[in-house]
Amino acid sequence: MYAMVIDQPGEAEVLQPREVETPQPGRHDVLVKTAACGVCYHDLLLRNGTMKRGVPFPLIVGHEPSGVVEAVGSEVGSVAPGDRVAATQWTGNCGLCRLCRSSREPLCLQRKWYGHEVNGAYAEYFVIQEESVVKVPPEVSLEEASMFSCAIGTAWHAVRDRGRVQPGETVLVTGAGGGLGVHTIQIAKLCGGRVIAVTGGPEKAKRLEELGADEVIVSREDFSDEVKRRTNGLGVDVVIDNVGGPLFEPTWRSIGRGGRFVLVGELSSNLIQINTARIFLKGVDIISTTSTSRTGLEQVMEQVRLGNIRPIVTESFPLKEAARVHRMLEERKSFGRVLLTP
Ligand SMILES: [Zn+2]
Ligand SMILES: [Zn+2]
Repeated sequence: MYAMVIDQPGEAEVLQPREVETPQPGRHDVLVKTAACGVCYHDLLLRNGTMKRGVPFPLIVGHEPSGVVEAVGSEVGSVAPGDRVAATQWTGNCGLCRLCRSSREPLCLQRKWYGHEVNGAYAEYFVIQEESVVKVPPEVSLEEASMFSCAIGTAWHAVRDRGRVQPGETVLVTGAGGGLGVHTIQIAKLCGGRVIAVTGGPEKAKRLEELGADEVIVSREDFSDEVKRRTNGLGVDVVIDNVGGPLFEPTWRSIGRGGRFVLVGELSSNLIQINTARIFLKGVDIISTTSTSRTGLEQVMEQVRLGNIRPIVTESFPLKEAARVHRMLEERKSFGRVLLTP
């Protein structure tokens, strides 16, 4: 098969197609013919060397795949060749610890980040453990299914499980035009929130409104006064932060007393400074979210099947053009998710 193998971190052009051995499934694994793989900012941070911990090079990145099962290991019972599947962002979890048993598999000490600690799916085929795949219903396309785990599932976990958005609460979504943001808006609306979306791209504002954002603020700098103005000076109840360090100050200033600050994405390795008294005087809960559980993946799939969440794929490119797609993301030119298809 061919795969986009990264030998060493560097510019986008380090992504080059190469013939490699097709991986073989172990006893508990499935071999899947890739239909689509989402391109995540996480992939860029691995490729450019920002994320270093536990990254083995040469590496095939890509943790947002879907496809058709080609072969299964001897112990696999839940899927068979020919099944259409979507995958979680992790593999190798123990299945037995308290975290695995409470739908927190991404935190299991044994789990490996897919396409990060082990080879992923910028390839014609990928291998992953049985527990990490779920069957995709016929009314959902495999392109849409590639977004279940990371782009939609993480947003689902952040808004619903971690942020616990309640009807009538105001929700600030940063990085609103990105792959996570466009789904965060939809899920926050589904939970009854009033959504204020922040985006750096003026051309994205109208589309964010179409997705359900009640208000859109176009800004790459300090938007906190604008948020205060639109919330009667109170600030928002919940922040779903897809950006992290680069916008931490304005995002922090936008949250109201007793608010919940949910950290989802980090686009840099910048350190932030905060006086801890500011946290407790304001009574803010600082909460994190880490990927999707298997249960979360199944819930998201059902919501997409019911039409409650619309997966936003903007464009698909041939896998061999991965370098070009990475450049597009670096230049913030994309809206929603961009997919690679072998
Ligand atoms: Zn991702
Ligand atoms: Zn475990």
